[in-house]
Order: sequence, then C-alpha cells, then structure tokens
Amino acid sequence: MQNPDSFSLDQAAALLKKYFGYDAFRPAQLPVVRSLLAGRDTVAIMPTGAGKSICFQVPALLFPGITLVISPLISLMKDQVDALRDAGVRATYINSSLSSAAARERYAGIAASAYDLIYVAPERLDADGFRSLVSGLAISMVAVDEAHCLSEWGHDFRPSYQAIAPFIAALPRRPLVAAFTATATPEVREDIVRLLALDSPDVHVTGFDRPNLYFEVRRGVKKRDFAARYVLAHKGEAGIIYAATRKEVDKLYEHLTKKHIAAGRYHAGLSDEERTRVQDDFLYDNLAVIVATNAFGMGIDKSNVRYVLHYNMPKNIESYYQEAGRAGRDGEPGECLLLYSPQDVMTQRYLIDVSTEDAARKRIELAKLQRMVDYCHTPECLRAFLIRYFGGEAADRCDNCGNCQAGMREVDVTVDAQKVFSCVYRMRERYGVTLVAQVLKGSADKRVKSLHLDELSTYGLYPKKSIEEIKLMIQRFIATDYLALEGGEYPVVRLRPRAYDVLRGRARVTQHILPEKEAAPASDG
Ligand code: ADP
Repeated sequence: MQNPDSFSLDQAAALLKKYFGYDAFRPAQLPVVRSLLAGRDTVAIMPTGAGKSICFQVPALLFPGITLVISPLISLMKDQVDALRDAGVRATYINSSLSSAAARERYAGIAASAYDLIYVAPERLDADGFRSLVSGLAISMVAVDEAHCLSEWGHDFRPSYQAIAPFIAALPRRPLVAAFTATATPEVREDIVRLLALDSPDVHVTGFDRPNLYFEVRRGVKKRDFAARYVLAHKGEAGIIYAATRKEVDKLYEHLTKKHIAAGRYHAGLSDEERTRVQDDFLYDNLAVIVATNAFGMGIDKSNVRYVLHYNMPKNIESYYQEAGRAGRDGEPGECLLLYSPQDVMTQRYLIDVSTEDAARKRIELAKLQRMVDYCHTPECLRAFLIRYFGGEAADRCDNCGNCQAGMREVDVTVDAQKVFSCVYRMRERYGVTLVAQVLKGSADKRVKSLHLDELSTYGLYPKKSIEEIKLMIQRFIATDYLALEGGEYPVVRLRPRAYDVLRGRARVTQHILPEKEAAPASDG
C-alpha cells in the first residue's frame, strides 16, 4: 500500500525554504516531488547536478514515518548526512564504517524515532539486527539512490542491491518506493522497475542534453604534446585530465611538471593525505589542473570546471558521460575532448578479459565497450550519439560538437559500403577489422596469403588507401550500425540486416563526412 495521505506542493516548498534555503524547486524537480507527494512509486532519471537528493529529502520531511535512503557509497553517505544535520534535519547513517558501539547507539536512536531520514548501505538490509529493528518502525518511503547499480547493464552493477526488493517485501506495510539515477539506458530503466517490483511507477526522465558542453574526439594526435599544449592554451581555467591507469597518470603528470605546467595528480596509489590535499587544492582553486584516474570526481561538487580532457578512452559511454559531465556544471561553456587511440581499446578489452566477472557479464561489458569505440568513430553529431545512447531524443545536428563544427557534409558512400560489405561477406564474417582492411588494401601479409584471401574478388579494391584509412571506414560502418563487431577476445566483423539491402542495391548509404580530414571518400574507386 502506498502513502494514504497526499501532501501539497506548498507544504513541500515551505520546507525547501526552511531547511535548504532555496526559493523554489527546479523545473526538473517539480514533477518528481509531485509524484512522491501523491504517494506514487517513482523513477527519476536526472543528470548529475540536477538536484536529485532534494527530491526525496523534502518529501521525507513531510511524511509521517521514516525514509530509508539506500546509498552505495559509504564516503558520500557521511557527507550527505552531515550536510542534512547542519541544515537541522534529523538524519543519520548506518554502514560498515561505524564501530559496533556507534552502530548500537544509532540503532537505539532509530528505535526511539529520533530520525526522519536514515541512510543505509544495501549490505545492511540483509543483517538480522537491522531487519528486526525496522520491522517495528513506520517506514513511509524507501529511496534508492544510484539505482542503476541494480542492473547488470548499469556501469556500476552491485549484487548487494538485489537485497532491496526482498527487504521491502518483508516489511509489515509496503512503503512508497522511489528510485534515482543519473544514467539509465532503456535496458537499465526496465531493470530498475522490474527488480524493485515497483507498482505502476511514474517515470521522469530529465533531458540528458548538456547544451553548454562542447564534445570532440581527436584521433591520431601525439597525446602528450597535445595535452601540454591544451593545458597551456587554457591557462588559469580549471580542468580535469582523465587517464586510464595510475601509470599513465604518473607519466603525464611528470611530463607536465617537467614543462613547468602546474598540475596535481590523483589516483588510488597515492596516500590519503596526498589525495585529500590535491582534491582540496582543486576545489578551492589553488590548483587549476588535475591529472587523475576515474577514482577522482565521485561526489566532488565543483561548478567551474572548464574542460575535461580524456587522455584515454573510458570503458563505456556511461563512464564517459559522467566524467565529461563534470565540466560546466555552472552552465558556462565547458569542453569535453577525448583523445582516441586504438591502444585504448586493447587496454579496456584486456581489463575486461582479466576481470573476475562471469562470461555473461563480460559479454555485456564488451558490447558496451564497442559503443564507446563507436562514439570515437561516428561521423554523426556526437551530442546526438550520446543522448540517443541514453534513450533520449536528439536533433541530427547540434552545431556544438567537433563533428558538427567541422562542417559535416552529407556524402553518398554507397559504393564504398558495397565494397566493404561484400568483402566481409566473402570472408564469411569470420575475421576482425584489421584482416578485412588488409584484404581490401591488397596486402601481401602472410596471414592473408595463407588463408587464400588474396584470391577473393574484393582483394585489393583500395590499393592507394592506407590500412588506417580503410579501418576508419569500417569502424564508421560499425558505428552507424551496418556492421557489427561480435565475439569476445578476437571480435569478428559481421553484416547487420540493413547491410544486405545495400549489397542487393535496394538501399543507399549516406554519411556525414568531415571535409578537411577526408576530402575524397571514394577516391580509390
Ligand atoms: P545530484 O544528486 O542530482 O547530482 P545534488 O542533489 O547533489 O544533485 O544537487 C546539486 C546541487 O544543486 C546541490 O548543490 C544542491 O544543493 C543544489 N540544488 C538542489 N535543488 C536546488 C534548488 N531547488 N534550488 C537551488 N539549488 C538546488
């Protein structure tokens, strides 16, 4: 059963002012708060910084019973609860960082109704002590933060989240259930509704577009020099440079330092002391640039970051958008550049390969990695690619990304498409991108010869193009869903159904081409 009473928005707005000092809910917050006040199960998908917490914190203050907030990050829990307590809200948290004496004390406080909001780690829901404690309490709402952790398709799957639904089902009275996340593809969204057993929920999706952010992918640059030049050209501006590994962070940091460019570094291999110092220096504008692994940024609320430079490609689009999205939180322009190199794909593939995940999970990770690679090769609008990835709708052009600004032209590439697809077909869809490119080039490579691929009619169709150019062409057909890259360790190029229409001459293929880089798409004819 859901909350029988419903509460007015005016009451909520008064509490928003009283406790948080804000005059009004943001337009994106309003429908979410309204659903909760009406006692409806709710899913809210809102970008980072949109103000998710307020959406459940204010209704929690109105509801007669307790609100449990399930949150995965122990470090953030303390910060959030401290901020609430400073604002005069009766809040506490329970997680494994507490001594058993401290936990006992809090349990006593909870039993004595001393709190309106209780943050708990999902692991706690399984503990007998906690279950028997809450079974005697009136719980009005369970708010699930970072709800994408429920789904295997999410970027941060946490098995402990699966304890939430049984926990709720075992409560004497079913509370209102609300789920919050910043990143949710349609698959994740469905998983959240199903795995939390939500009761015909209201689903609110706030637009994923961040119009003030400029997106660009650079391929084939000398990364170290590029990064140094970039930082110098943005002197005085706050920026984050993300690299894939500690080693990469250290190397780039040393390079910048040698060039007398002031920067800090951040990764899990440094002492707590050093990390805190660097983080604070960055927060308080004493340090403009941080070179970091993805360990940096969680819960950092710095609004004036002007650029996020990805020195390496991340493992999936969720991670990329979350990290890049740390630029321009204040609404002023921000730049999000990604420096692509094929080596990054090998690194990420290797990391998936050596991880302890099971085979099904690895397949999902590889599929997501491929979408990230597609982003790096798409000839289309980068913003549209990102927004559509998250299930949103986007115009075909934004005029504020590298691809749009390069002056995309629509070019008919049907003849190239037919050559490439027919080569893939003749190679029986059994080989990877490099080998397909070698055959199209007419390479004298040993492997090509030993497999008799030099006898195919598509051998040597592009003698003048470099292997890299041909590979880019293939990657683009993958990125635009004509070809698929399938299989684990050695993925092979396959034809998607729409490629057959092209082969049979029933459909034409057009692509947006960046003119200064690829002046003559079909020159090799
Ligand atoms: P999210 O969890 O969606 O990333 P937060 O809840 O951390 O976002 O909120 C981001 C920032 O916006 C915080 O500084 C918060 O205090 C502020 N904020 C939230 N709601 C409002 C509002 N209605 N008016 C003004 N500021 C708000």
